Amino acid sequence: MVPDHLNRVWLKARDRLRRPGAGILLGTTSTLLLVLSLVGFSAEKSTEQGARKPSLLDLLDEVARDAEQKEAPPGLPPEVPKAASWSSPLARQCSGIDQSMRKRLLSKRRKLAQLRQSIPADPTNYGDRFRSNPWGQPIDPAPRVVVLHETVYSLTSALNTFLTPHPRDEDQVSYHTLVGLDGSIVDVVDPLKRAYGAGYSAFLGEWAVTNSEFDGSVNNFALHLSLETPDDGQGRTGNHSGYTAAQYDALALVLDGWLERFEIDPAAITTHRHVDLGGARADPRSFSWSDLQQRLAALGTMCHS
Ligand SMILES: [Zn+2]
Repeated sequence: MVPDHLNRVWLKARDRLRRPGAGILLGTTSTLLLVLSLVGFSAEKSTEQGARKPSLLDLLDEVARDAEQKEAPPGLPPEVPKAASWSSPLARQCSGIDQSMRKRLLSKRRKLAQLRQSIPADPTNYGDRFRSNPWGQPIDPAPRVVVLHETVYSLTSALNTFLTPHPRDEDQVSYHTLVGLDGSIVDVVDPLKRAYGAGYSAFLGEWAVTNSEFDGSVNNFALHLSLETPDDGQGRTGNHSGYTAAQYDALALVLDGWLERFEIDPAAITTHRHVDLGGARADPRSFSWSDLQQRLAALGTMCHS
């Protein structure tokens, strides 16, 4: 559970901009023009390729927004601090697949729509992805890292937090998806939107600064998934008994879908512990990479090319 209080003053700015005044017209018009020009560009590209279906880029263009500061703040954006490099524990594994596991996962994947429920978070707890920073520099809103977390308390408790309106920036928090101990999957925030799963954070030397008053985070380009913590780990520090087989199944199925949809490499699945720059996050504790690896391999996710 991580309140992301580093990047959310913009929500207040957005509310101010929504009030009647010339600012709205200017802001809306420039955004609209940008969207139109970008969509136009994409449409041109799509036509060349003979495709009619909106691309992911089109969809992101529809929801991504420009930073709302009217004037660029002085100076340059803060530089991302140097952090430990990421070496994925997921090794490519394309043979020795557990066939019974594969059968089980494929069966669950066919029924995934029924197994998954959507319980949208209150809009104060998430936002749009940004396409430019407050200095007017373009930033890429496409999701390209998956950050794993744990709830620390029960899934119900986490859901209650996300469903509760949080006017104060420091209380706002969300993940895109929660996975319960029983394997239930609850989608809380649309992956095209920006969930507030991490504060001061970076991945592979990259962060996004979306408010000039704060340091950056990975939220603008992250997908956040949180695993329900088992009873013996709730509210405690230190290791616990770990996650259930049903939970790893559900996790692998959600990740399989995200990696394919957003063309993310499995090596970009990481943890909150790794992306956190404050050194205070340890989640997900007691996580078994080999349990995830076996399932991704069984689904063929590790061996697309
Ligand atoms: Zn976390």
